Amino acid sequence: MSGLLSQPVLIVGGGIAGLTLAIALRQARQEVEIVELNPAWSVYGVGIIMQANALRALQRIGLSEACIAAGFPYSTSVHHEEDGTLRSARQKPSLDQEGLPASCGILRPNLHALLRDTALAAGVRVRLGTTVTALQDDTAQVQAQFKDGSIQTYSLVVGADGIRSHVRKLCFDVPQQPVFTGQGCWRFALPRDPQVTGAMMYHGRQSRVAGLVPVSSKQMYLLLLSEEPDNPRLAQSQLQPMLRERLTHFGGLIPAAAKHIPAAQDIIYRPLETLLVSAPWHRSRVVLMGDAAHAMTPHMAQGASMAMEDAVVLVDCLSDSADVSDALARYAERRFDRCRRVLQASVQLGEWQLRPEPGSDPMALLREMADELMKPA
Ligand SMILES: Cc1cc2nc3c(=O)[nH]c(=O)nc-3n(C[C@H](O)[C@H](O)[C@H](O)COP(=O)(O)OP(=O)(O)OC[C@H]3O[C@@H](n4cnc5c(N)ncnc54)[C@H](O)[C@@H]3O)c2cc1C
Repeated sequence: MSGLLSQPVLIVGGGIAGLTLAIALRQARQEVEIVELNPAWSVYGVGIIMQANALRALQRIGLSEACIAAGFPYSTSVHHEEDGTLRSARQKPSLDQEGLPASCGILRPNLHALLRDTALAAGVRVRLGTTVTALQDDTAQVQAQFKDGSIQTYSLVVGADGIRSHVRKLCFDVPQQPVFTGQGCWRFALPRDPQVTGAMMYHGRQSRVAGLVPVSSKQMYLLLLSEEPDNPRLAQSQLQPMLRERLTHFGGLIPAAAKHIPAAQDIIYRPLETLLVSAPWHRSRVVLMGDAAHAMTPHMAQGASMAMEDAVVLVDCLSDSADVSDALARYAERRFDRCRRVLQASVQLGEWQLRPEPGSDPMALLREMADELMKPA
């Protein structure tokens, strides 16, 4: 990348996308600065599944082994009827030849700590509790103004600030509102049942799907996808009784797990929303990545994988181009179709849960997409 970016890169947002990019850029000897709005730089969430393609992106920045050591690698996805009867078992495709398992569950705070500590050790400068308020870009550089009124100049500004991206609002004249899909996702962490050595899903009444996913030798998380018409705003005091009620009819390992429903502050509820920005994903020298460009539902557990793939592809494009605008155009060309297909498949899986269609085959779609994602990004 030498010579292409003569000034630092500013990454707005220190989440999975921003941190992966920051590490990859530092490994290419690029000066990088992150601004992260959250002063505590904490993460919201319980566990996360790193699919094989996410592990491949982590391997590229030297972190796949540490992720696997901190998490729980697994290769099976077993589906049950509501009462716990076995419906189907699937061996997930892995990247054995690249030395990677099919999936790895990990606690979100542990993944964040791994990325954060690596970025800091690599020399990424981080400013917390602030953000950009204006971006003035021309063909050669971007001037960013910050909350305190200070102005700095960068070779490139990256919006890695999530589904409600502020960078997108500042620079992109595109629809900004995510679309609610009709489902919500509930999650909490609990001690791992020794029988949970892979993803275990239970398909219940009222389109509900409950699942257990291991995140370490000692812990797993419970997730529940449920239909939540009209996207209700839920008060903390409602979370425990509502989750308990939604898990009532499940059998198998779910009743024992439901005994661990924690206090409301440890239950994470998220309405599921999507958003896709059409390519190209740059305006002059400002570019989007991760959920800021393509936020998807968790039905394929691919949102973070796509964000990590964005990061390594963006660095590749910047490394083999003589021109920034050519690099940014090639980045979106390489990423758009893959992200769109995963996003659409994820939304389709959710729709089939809510409104099953005759002849629909969610397992076949999952298999097809998982195989496709084994191809390099
Ligand atoms: C219920 C649920 C379960 C999921 N499970 C999985 C899974 O198992 N596997 C998977 O791969 N994906 C999963 N995903 C998707 C995954 O969480 C996201 O795709 C991923 O977090 C996107 O990373 P990001 O860095 O782009 O955005 P974010 O994670 O949203 O990070 C954005 C960062 O930017 C910061 N920020 C926001 N605004 C500003 C601003 N104005 N200025 C500066 N900083 C700002 C935020 O504080 C945050 O740190 C799931 C999503 C949901 C909703």
